[in-house]
Amino acid sequence: MTRPPLNRHLAEFGTTIFAEMSQLAARTGAINLGQGFPDTDGPEEIREAAVRALRDGRGNQYPPGTGVPELRAAIADHQRDRYGIDLDPDTEVLVTAGATEAIAASLLALVAPGDEVIALEPYYDSYAACIAMAGGTRVPVTLRPHDGAYGLDLDELRAAVTDRTRLILLNTPHNPTGTVLTRAELTAVAELAIERDLLVVTDEVYEHLVFDDAEHLPIASLPGMRERTVTIGSAGKTFSFTGWKVGWITASPELTSAVRSAKQFLTYVSSGPFQYAIAEALRLPAAYYDTLRAEHAAKRDLLSEGLAQAGFAVYKPAGTYFVTTDIRPLGAEDGFAFCRSLPERAGVVAIPNAVFYDHREAGAPFVRFAFCKKTEVLEEAVSRLKHLS
Ligand code: PMP
Ligand code: GLN
Repeated sequence: MTRPPLNRHLAEFGTTIFAEMSQLAARTGAINLGQGFPDTDGPEEIREAAVRALRDGRGNQYPPGTGVPELRAAIADHQRDRYGIDLDPDTEVLVTAGATEAIAASLLALVAPGDEVIALEPYYDSYAACIAMAGGTRVPVTLRPHDGAYGLDLDELRAAVTDRTRLILLNTPHNPTGTVLTRAELTAVAELAIERDLLVVTDEVYEHLVFDDAEHLPIASLPGMRERTVTIGSAGKTFSFTGWKVGWITASPELTSAVRSAKQFLTYVSSGPFQYAIAEALRLPAAYYDTLRAEHAAKRDLLSEGLAQAGFAVYKPAGTYFVTTDIRPLGAEDGFAFCRSLPERAGVVAIPNAVFYDHREAGAPFVRFAFCKKTEVLEEAVSRLKHLS
């Protein structure tokens, strides 16, 4: 008799694709365009701010459960100055161990066994695992490519809502497709949430990585959404310190308190000295964000053009670190097999988008490449990929 796996409600999730693919890159010496992390650190003065906090003994013991006041104030100011959202830093901001803990705590707090959670597919891998840990049921609504970009089918979204739906889990700018939800799409989601009395948890970790004419709009800023939305942010992507794991939620006092009830039993607190440094980072002048955007837009163009020349069909992203491609023009159909053989064939590592789908066949031919890397690394990757076709 075979026994069920010890982690039987999580067994389907295996090891995250990011760990698997980063190990593959390390083992083969291939260029890692898989896991999304920058290969250069963020601003020197922010690194120094962390050193100063460590030396001054700020945050070396448990910080307050909601986060250090300096950081909570900086997050509230950021949301007000950028988006016109007024928050009380004491009751409407909660600092977490990265966006990862913010996602986990939000879902564990707000989803009860039997609740349905609508997530945009392809979805970031931790969403499915956290919905399962909460005992919820995930209901994917698939983003489909159209005229070179992925879009949300609002009729499909509406049809996915049932009497058991508890919340809609959004992600904009969207990993892995690079789609940035428009005002019209977000307004329709907001109307649906209000009509059906749903909560919205929105993962906005790439809020500062939007390109060209795209504009990031937090759904919490739309009428009637303040009291039903949990907004998730992270310093990892915005300041290129993904290892510091400083994230946060902003929400009404009731929602913040509910999320805190789960968060306090996950890490309780984390990243003490780094919280002070990120409080300073959030007060960097607008020029910092402009440069971040411009640099990543140029990297996106370099990699997108290189991939197109190598024979991939490319969905040019409006935001994030990632470009999704279709491998079918290269005569391949299975993204998993393609990514497993890519280090040997071309010395590059990428991520098969199928892992972000319940409908694996819908995601099979799509492969994600990260462009948050040095220009010379991207150039080398592009020159290697040229020999594929
Ligand atoms: N959400 C999305 C969409 C992501 O891509 C990531 C990975 N960076 C996270 C959440 C996790 O963020 P953090 O590193 O702050 O935990
Ligand atoms: N968010 C990063 C990505 O999508 C990876 C983070 C992780 O390794 N969990 O590539």
